[in-house]
Amino acid sequence: MQKDFLEVDYTSRQRRRVKVVLAITIASILASLLITYAILVITGSEKLLIIFVIATMAPAIIAPITSWSVIGLMIKVQKLEEAHRRQATYDDLTGLLTRRALMNQGDALLKLCVRNKQPFVLALLDLDNFKSINDLHGHGGGDEVLKVFARIMRSAMRESDLVGRLGGEEFAIVLPGSTLNDAQRVLERIRQETQDTQVEYLDAVIFLTVSAGLAVKHEEASKGFTTLIKQADDALYQAKERGRNLIVLSEI
Ligand code: GH3
Ligand code: MG
Ligand code: MG
Repeated sequence: MQKDFLEVDYTSRQRRRVKVVLAITIASILASLLITYAILVITGSEKLLIIFVIATMAPAIIAPITSWSVIGLMIKVQKLEEAHRRQATYDDLTGLLTRRALMNQGDALLKLCVRNKQPFVLALLDLDNFKSINDLHGHGGGDEVLKVFARIMRSAMRESDLVGRLGGEEFAIVLPGSTLNDAQRVLERIRQETQDTQVEYLDAVIFLTVSAGLAVKHEEASKGFTTLIKQADDALYQAKERGRNLIVLSEI
C-alpha cells in the first residue's frame, strides 16, 4: 500500500553538499589559474609568484562561501517541495491517501487493469451517524474513531490496494486485480471488525458501524474512475437508505 516513499536521508544529502562545494572550489581555482596563466602569457608580466598566489587564494575563499549558501538554498527548496508533496499525498489525521492522491493513483490503476483485462473494484465507505459520535464525545472522540477506522481498513487490505480519506468520515478503497467475491470478503471483514470494535476515549467507550457501496469495472467498457465513484456513491446511498451497517453492490 502507501509506503513512505518520500523519506529522505539528510546525512547523505549533507555529505553530497560538502563534496559539491569541494568540487566547485577546485574547479574555480583551476579556472582562475588557467585564466591568469593566459593573461601572463599575453602581457608578459614578471610578478609570477604573487599573481599565482592571488589567483589561487581568491577562488579558494570566494567559491566555498558562495556555493555553500547557494546549495543550502537549493536544499531548502527541495525540503519544502517534499513537505508539500507529503501533505498533498497523505491525510494528516489518518495517514491514508488524500482525495487527490487516491483519485490520481486509482485512475492510473484502473487504466492498467483495463489494459491487462484484470478485474477492478472500488468501494466507498462512510461511517454511520458520525455526527452523533462528534456530538456525544466531542471532535476529539470523532478524530480518535477516524484513526481507529483507518487502521481497521489498512489491516484488512493488501499492499497493492489503495485506501484514502475522501473527506470527513468518507473513505475509498481501490482493489486492483480483485474479483467481486474477493472484494466483498474484504469489505465484509471491515464491516464486521468495525462493528466489533470499541474505541476507548477519555472515560467513554465509542461504538461504530460503517456502510459501503461497491462498484466493479465492467467487462467490455473501460469506464472512467469518476464513473465508478458515482456508481459506488449511489450504492452507498442505498446502504444508508436500507438502514446502515451494510455493504451494497452497485447495479450496472
Ligand atoms: P450518515 O450515517 O448518514 O453518514 O450520517 P453522519 O452523521 O455520519 O453524516 P453527516 O454527513 O450528517 O455528518 C458527518 C459529520 O462528520 C459532520 C462533521 O462535523 C463531521 N466531520 C467531518 N470531518 C471531520 C473530522 O475531521 N473530524 C471530526 N471529528 N468530525 C468530522
Ligand atoms: Mg456518515
Ligand atoms: Mg458522510
